[in-house]
Amino acid sequence: MTMNTGSKIAPRARQGAAPWSGRQSMAWGAVLAGFLLVVYLVYFWTERLAIDKLQAGGAQRLEVYVSSLENALEKYDFLPKTLELNKDVIRLLQTPDDPALVAAVNQYLEQMNAQAKSTAIYISDLNGITHAASNWRGKDSFIGDNVSFRPYAQDALRGTPGRFYGVGTTNLEPGYFFAHGIYQDGKMLGLATVKVNIESLEKRWVQGADKVMLADEHGVIFLTSVPAWKYRTLAPLAPEVGALLTQTRQYYSHKLEPIPFLSDRRLGNGARVITVRDQALPGAAAKTSSSVMTQLQLKSPRNWQFIYLSDLLQARSSAQAAAVFSCVVLGFFLLLFFYVRQRRQALAHKLRAKEQLQYAYDNLETMVAERTSELNAMTQSLSQEIAVRSQAEHKLHLTQNELFQAGKMAVLGQMSASITHELNQPLTALRTMSDNAVILLERGRLDDAKNNLATISQIAARMGAITGQLKVFARKSTTSLTSVSIPTAISNALFLVERRLQVENVHFAMHVCGDDVFALCESNRLEQVLVNLFANALDSMAGASRRALTVDVTRQDDKVLICVSDSGPGLSDEVRERLFEPFFTTKPQGVGLGLGLAISEQITRQFGGILRADNPPGGGARFTIELQIAQQEEKHV
Ligand code: ADP
Repeated sequence: MTMNTGSKIAPRARQGAAPWSGRQSMAWGAVLAGFLLVVYLVYFWTERLAIDKLQAGGAQRLEVYVSSLENALEKYDFLPKTLELNKDVIRLLQTPDDPALVAAVNQYLEQMNAQAKSTAIYISDLNGITHAASNWRGKDSFIGDNVSFRPYAQDALRGTPGRFYGVGTTNLEPGYFFAHGIYQDGKMLGLATVKVNIESLEKRWVQGADKVMLADEHGVIFLTSVPAWKYRTLAPLAPEVGALLTQTRQYYSHKLEPIPFLSDRRLGNGARVITVRDQALPGAAAKTSSSVMTQLQLKSPRNWQFIYLSDLLQARSSAQAAAVFSCVVLGFFLLLFFYVRQRRQALAHKLRAKEQLQYAYDNLETMVAERTSELNAMTQSLSQEIAVRSQAEHKLHLTQNELFQAGKMAVLGQMSASITHELNQPLTALRTMSDNAVILLERGRLDDAKNNLATISQIAARMGAITGQLKVFARKSTTSLTSVSIPTAISNALFLVERRLQVENVHFAMHVCGDDVFALCESNRLEQVLVNLFANALDSMAGASRRALTVDVTRQDDKVLICVSDSGPGLSDEVRERLFEPFFTTKPQGVGLGLGLAISEQITRQFGGILRADNPPGGGARFTIELQIAQQEEKHV
């Protein structure tokens, strides 16, 4: 029967912790990717919102700047045209060499310039030669200058209003030029030009907090609140544009190099995010780069690009802060998720353990009942086995006793011839002596008859002793152990083989240490063993020239050793090996049964002793009975 507790546990109990699987790794990867994506999106959208806000603000500011510029300039739009209303101007263009007219027009222009708060007003003929100018008094006067190469002059001479920003060729002062043809009766006589200084606007911008720039249609920045970017370009100039600018001397000898953008990204609505490394930006260190957003407004008809710069640092910082915040929030929720998951797992674990416990508990009762009934069955079968065993033991015991008895009877049978002889002799003597007694009584020899009868009585007593001894030997022995006198037991045994000792001429010797020795055994059985050993010794010496049987009784610690030695041939190795085997005999059939030593060995073992055999150095065989020493009269059960 086997305990099957393991098989009764619910299958779910066997589910161990799953190893780190590929699916789990993928799930973790997805969580991480999702985390990063969310953080990126938060960053992106926050930056986008901030940029949108900046863009909206920038667009408003641009409107303000554009309208203030337009307000400043549009009042000059019609000023050149109005000059043709002056008759002196017309006459001067008809007769340019009249000094009086030149002086009159100069004064008129000077006055007009002062009133209009422009930089200069001048009149040129159809060849572009300037004949009168508001700045006629100064040494940088425009009088005599040829302006035909200037685009505004060319436009005006073509009949369209000339509009042009450029650096003055005479005094190198930048200004915005308004030019218009002077007509009489529909015929162009020359052109009038008004130059307006718009640098004052730039001064106001520099003082303000905003960063604004004004670039021409080619992208050349000519007005800016960032001084270092003045006369820089938004992009490298095409070669033909560079050549044109050199030819028109629009920016005189300025180099017009592009602003070094580290990156440039278009946002739509004319907005761009640019990154620059330029100390020109206020607050930027020489080697740092900063991102700014540029917003563009094209101002028609002048074709100028109005650019508003917004610093993206703030937008970036708020995007970063939002990203960090989202990191923290996501991290918190992730932790919360793990915590809740852990808790749920722990709870599920607990629940499973509880279920298993309940299952085990439910099973336990069944198992206990099953086991109890199994145990009961076992106990029953064991008790049956025990009963059978004890019966068998009892039978064995009985059989053994029968065997011992049979052995004993066998010994008696073997000795029957000598016993018969032993009894026949006194019987013959008895018959003779009783006959003699009758004769003596008849003859009246009473004394002799009396002696004769006394001898008869002695012989009868002796015969009684022999039969008594036989009776004692033949009786069934008890199994209780007592304190037995070893010399007495030896004498009793010897009595049964005495006749053979005499007939076979065997020298017998016995040595007992001390007066008497007692051992724990049963006398009748010990005598049976001794008779066996003596008979075997006598049998072995049958063909020997010298026949000696010696019995030595010694003590060794708490043991008594009885050694029976003979002068026979001793024990061969083969015989020694099988000596105590039942039915082993070397004697002829009908003589030996092969049970003597087997029974003797068992009897000795029942005494708690040992029977062993060896060949002593002096020759022959030696059998030693080892018994537990006992005190006299001691009785053991
Ligand atoms: P049995 O005497 O009927 O043969 P035993 O069991 O008494 O049976 O003896 C078994 C054998 O042991 C004997 O046949 C004999 O060969 C051998 N044996 C016993 N005693 C002696 C002895 N003293 N010397 C030599 N052989 C012996």
